[in-house]
Amino acid sequence: MGRSRRGVRTGQMVRIASERIHILYSLARKEAGKGDHQLMRRHVQLARRIGTRYNVRLPRDLSRATCKDCNAYLLPGATSFVRVGGGLIRTTCELCGAVRRFGLEPAGTGRIKTPQSETSISQKSQPTSTQGNGTRSKEESN
Ligand SMILES: [Zn+2]
Repeated sequence: MGRSRRGVRTGQMVRIASERIHILYSLARKEAGKGDHQLMRRHVQLARRIGTRYNVRLPRDLSRATCKDCNAYLLPGATSFVRVGGGLIRTTCELCGAVRRFGLEPAGTGRIKTPQSETSISQKSQPTSTQGNGTRSKEESN
């Protein structure tokens, strides 16, 4: 018994679930910045559990910000170390040492975020205007 209500998954529930996941992740991010790793992991854990229960996939940016090994929120400069090079983004979890690698998107989509990347934009000083390719996806935050 006890499995009778399994499969109740209306669109509304999914929406609420993904909303909660986002909230939990933003909390986790805050704790990651503050250094409260215990609370951070609890938020991430809960978010992942909600995702599993309601079959909601984590958005890619959140999924990439998650250490699947220790449930850390991978915040560059706080809980993770990010290197960009060779067409890859390498994220190292500073808490457990797990390394994840992602391929860089082919140019054109422009949706990728490179937090604190080591690559610097050196092409903007060219006098002749290049057409098109001026995707400036660099964030100068922090
Ligand atoms: Zn980890």
